Amino acid sequence: MHAKQRMTGSDYFSKTYEIARSRFIAAACAAGGQMDEIYLDAMSPVGSPLAIEIAWFGLDNPSRVLIHSSGIHGVEGFAGSAVQLALLDSELKIPSDAALVLVHCLNPYGMAWLRRVNERNVDLNRNFVVDPAVRTGAADTYRRLDGLLNPDRLPAGRDLFYARALRSGLKYGMPALRQAVAEGQYEFPEGLFYGGKEFEKGARLYLAWLSHHLKTVRSVFAIDVHTGLGNWGQETLYLRSGADQTQEAAKLGDVLSQQVITDARAHGAYEIRGMLCEVFTMLAPEPEWSFLLQEFGTYSGLRVVNALREENYWYHHGNTSPQHRSRRQLKEMLVPANREWRDSVVDRGVSLCKRVMAHVFS
Ligand SMILES: [Zn+2]
Repeated sequence: MHAKQRMTGSDYFSKTYEIARSRFIAAACAAGGQMDEIYLDAMSPVGSPLAIEIAWFGLDNPSRVLIHSSGIHGVEGFAGSAVQLALLDSELKIPSDAALVLVHCLNPYGMAWLRRVNERNVDLNRNFVVDPAVRTGAADTYRRLDGLLNPDRLPAGRDLFYARALRSGLKYGMPALRQAVAEGQYEFPEGLFYGGKEFEKGARLYLAWLSHHLKTVRSVFAIDVHTGLGNWGQETLYLRSGADQTQEAAKLGDVLSQQVITDARAHGAYEIRGMLCEVFTMLAPEPEWSFLLQEFGTYSGLRVVNALREENYWYHHGNTSPQHRSRRQLKEMLVPANREWRDSVVDRGVSLCKRVMAHVFS
């Protein structure tokens, strides 16, 4: 008999959303998880209805939970999906008063069609806006750059885009430009980083699902996996919390022996409006919660934005196929095929989850 061949991290990456989904369901069921599905009004490229798949491990009415989610940015979900499959291949130790919740992909449309946004061009990680007064407008700089970010004619070549983007960077300062472009906007429905004019169905149903299933929960720790921001392979941990964030970040940094940041702007990123963590503030009563965004860098910010811009252009000009080169390019920008990158993402994704579990479930 042959020993089971050892899988490396990159083996857990799937070629398509459909494959990732069936691997997730099979692995979660084999590990004793209870499956749940939240159906959306969207279809996959092969014509099957799309749902947010959720696996639940442990007690039905726990007092503490760890939620691991990915794919709120669609195509980025290939990374989080691989991390979850690897995690399911390891031994899960959950105490008797707790539960582990794996949310396979919060934006299955985006992952299936290789977009970062959902079926209505909404960036779901800008959609969880609690205060309606925030769900309006766009930064002045975004407005000025609308024609560059969201061109209405065939996109100018990459070099021209880089030149104009760099000129804008010099004019406004790169950190201010990054902030204005990516913080989320509520004015250009066909534009990049559009947060939507109301709660999207997926966001609304996910909130309802959490409200229903976390009734007995006093404390929640959430990990949400992303890709595409930061240097190649670099891991960034960004904390949001219902308590004192700076204190929480320092404590968690000690526990993990790793830097945990709360000020994204000071670390080459940006603050965003309507982020997923806001969902916990909408639960009644609001539990204690900590939300750790785990980000893995890929290519340079300009290359990523250029790929987003080209993909978005083609989507709104009649080509929605996941085979289109702009979509394959976006996938490479956000989930590189490089084996070392993939191995490392899975290693660090599983490692973070294990260390957080040891901490939260201690
Ligand atoms: Zn993301």
